[in-house]
Amino acid sequence: MAREDTASGGTAQDDSGHDFIRDIVRADLETGRIKQVITRFPPEPNGYLHIGHAKSICLNFGLAEEFGGRCHLRFDDTNPAKEAQEYVDAIQRDVRWLGFDWGEHLYFASDYFEQLYAWAEDLIRAGLAYVDDQSQEEIRANRGTLTEPGRDSPYRGRSVAENLDLFRRMRAGEFPNGARVLRAKIDMASGNINLRDPVLYRILHLPHPRTGTAWKIYPSYDFAHGQSDAIEHVTHSICTLEFEDHRPLYDWFIEHLDVPSRPRQYEFARLNLTHTVLSKRVLTRLVQEGHVTGWDDPRMPTLAGLRRRGVPAEAIRDFVKRIGVAKANSLVDIGMLDFSIRNVLNRRALRRMAVLRPLKVVIENYPEGKVEELEAANHPDDASAGVRKIPFSRELYIERDDFMEQPPKKFFRLSPGSEVRLRYAYFIRCTGVVRNSAGEVEELRCRYDPATRGGNAPDGRKVRATIHWVSAAHSLPAEVRLINPLFRTPVPSGGDDFAADLNPHSLEVLGGARIEPALADSSDAAPVQFERQGYFCRDPDSRPDRPVFNRTVGLRDSFAKELAKGGDPAQGA
Ligand code: ATP
Ligand code: MG
Repeated sequence: MAREDTASGGTAQDDSGHDFIRDIVRADLETGRIKQVITRFPPEPNGYLHIGHAKSICLNFGLAEEFGGRCHLRFDDTNPAKEAQEYVDAIQRDVRWLGFDWGEHLYFASDYFEQLYAWAEDLIRAGLAYVDDQSQEEIRANRGTLTEPGRDSPYRGRSVAENLDLFRRMRAGEFPNGARVLRAKIDMASGNINLRDPVLYRILHLPHPRTGTAWKIYPSYDFAHGQSDAIEHVTHSICTLEFEDHRPLYDWFIEHLDVPSRPRQYEFARLNLTHTVLSKRVLTRLVQEGHVTGWDDPRMPTLAGLRRRGVPAEAIRDFVKRIGVAKANSLVDIGMLDFSIRNVLNRRALRRMAVLRPLKVVIENYPEGKVEELEAANHPDDASAGVRKIPFSRELYIERDDFMEQPPKKFFRLSPGSEVRLRYAYFIRCTGVVRNSAGEVEELRCRYDPATRGGNAPDGRKVRATIHWVSAAHSLPAEVRLINPLFRTPVPSGGDDFAADLNPHSLEVLGGARIEPALADSSDAAPVQFERQGYFCRDPDSRPDRPVFNRTVGLRDSFAKELAKGGDPAQGA
């Protein structure tokens, strides 16, 4: 509908679709190394997707869209101890919501278990893998450090026949959890610890959400991931920087196994956001320990939480585009996400009036029982959004903050004796206050100027403030939830002591808000701007008689000012 809002400045990359990964794909297509780009987004179904994942989703699906290829959704479901169908379902819902479609290309690493097993036997037969009886602790202790080489396992010299026999018996479930593992035989002195005989299979007597009880051993993520890409003919395996050191291992597998294709891996910097933790382990604990109401709590950085908060998918895509794709890790200001959200909502959201902390106003010279229907624009920049009628009457509510009994110098809103404009209505002047028994201001007495209907005085006199209001009798009660950052520290530790960084004021519930009648339709899920307050959306906790609104984001746009001054929103970490 409304105005095309061209965002002012603030791109961390140029807009021409160039970043190092797009350049690589473009070159691979131009030189004919590949005919079609095939990417994948490979989540492990052990939690909900978060805004960091959105960066990877937009990159992988975006590449496929831009270069006429395709992007798979593949679940790397190799660890039944932590995975669940709930997560598989949530991830699919969230990728779709973000605006992407994998078509028929939905895959699971568990579909490849038989093939992966066969490849493990191939490695054994080639003398490149062995069964190790050391305990997990012994393996760790013998792995060495960055400065010291590891020590060979006493079982490293087992014969192919013995290894095959033991590995088959591992599969058959003859041994308890942890009794043995299958390891690649590479190099215990390698400078890259990932190459010091990594674990390929572990014994785990645990049912898998998809394969049931068929397997008593499960491949490691490292053994499954690259080969799954190869099976799917993925051309560009894009992952985050922490996997750079795993690339030699993935290449080693591809080198030594009879795989159907040879994917190339490229690493980019993961998204880090201020006031936010994107570690799935911490997010899981936030949910499990009840710090939030669930994965979709509007304070969560999950896609489900952002959606419930009212953040449009378009705003997330816009944000991801602005931050760009780079090889160096960085920290992005959360204000940059808010900036994208405001940009989209400013265009889309219809304007409404709501009073979050009501203070009653009685207009003494307005006739009792009289109601006027005043006209108000639905969107200031878009006439096609139309107008609505707002009832005006003798008793109104205004925002408590818009009145001060003893105003400081620059306070231009309502105070005893002062005059303000009521948005779309009249000028009113405060003539008195009514107090309760505790001495608190409970009600304002005002007079209106009938000649100022519509908000302008024929004598040309000015007021310095315009405030919003609702009619007391016609407005509806509502609960408003102000969503603030979940972490008070700009860079939370993200460690086990994460609770110390939590913001005790991350959720402010305003139980006595009043909303204008145009907001009565409880089925209306469209975002709205509450004038002078911010952007809001209806929460699923709403009941027909008691709507609940979440504040998606406030109106204040300090971040845009920062950008205008030439500040760089993506500061080096
Ligand atoms: P973990 O592996 O510790 O469970 P994860 O966040 O890496 O957590 P995955 O399900 O493995 O979860 O992630 C799927 C994909 O999303 C991976 O390719 C990963 O690189 C990418 N990804 C995860 N976090 C981010 C992030 N903060 N920024 C960009 N990409 C990310
Ligand atoms: Mg991961």
